[in-house]
Amino acid sequence: MEKACKKCRVIIAQGDVCPICGASEMTLKWSGYVVIMNVEKSELAKKLGINANGTYALSINA
Ligand SMILES: [Zn+2]
Repeated sequence: MEKACKKCRVIIAQGDVCPICGASEMTLKWSGYVVIMNVEKSELAKKLGINANGTYALSINA
């Protein structure tokens, strides 16, 4: 199952270290799904505090 980074909420398919922020705290308890493809122009990315393109969890439940 895919994990989400507790810090930046990026979703990763494998591994235990976040490729975006370098954190090693992952959780399986996330929900929602948002794909950011053009972070500079995305209002949603701005709203969510996302700084890099990728797939992110909308919310972390842990
Ligand atoms: Zn992260």
